[in-house]
Amino acid sequence: MAMTSEQRRKARMKRYGLTVEQYEDMAKLWNHTCWICEQPDPHGRRLAVDHDASTGLVRGLLCTDCNRGIGLMGHDPERLERAARYLRDANTPQWWDEPA
Ligand SMILES: [Zn+2]
Repeated sequence: MAMTSEQRRKARMKRYGLTVEQYEDMAKLWNHTCWICEQPDPHGRRLAVDHDASTGLVRGLLCTDCNRGIGLMGHDPERLERAARYLRDANTPQWWDEPA
């Protein structure tokens, strides 16, 4: 028998050691917005449960884009800090625009 979407959701929550009620309590903490960008999910999905793969501990709830973003950056805080610094401080001389 096929699982309903609610059953699938419960099974998914269980993998993170969360009940659906605990998920909802966490979501309410930040008014159903992403814990990084503080926006609702841009694709209208439920916030994703972000967890530390090495410890299995739940870190928080993230929108699809932030969740993918930190995943693509290897969940590496050092690298993400460097990325933020890079974006903030980028001030490359636009030498190719200068007249010869
Ligand atoms: Zn986000």
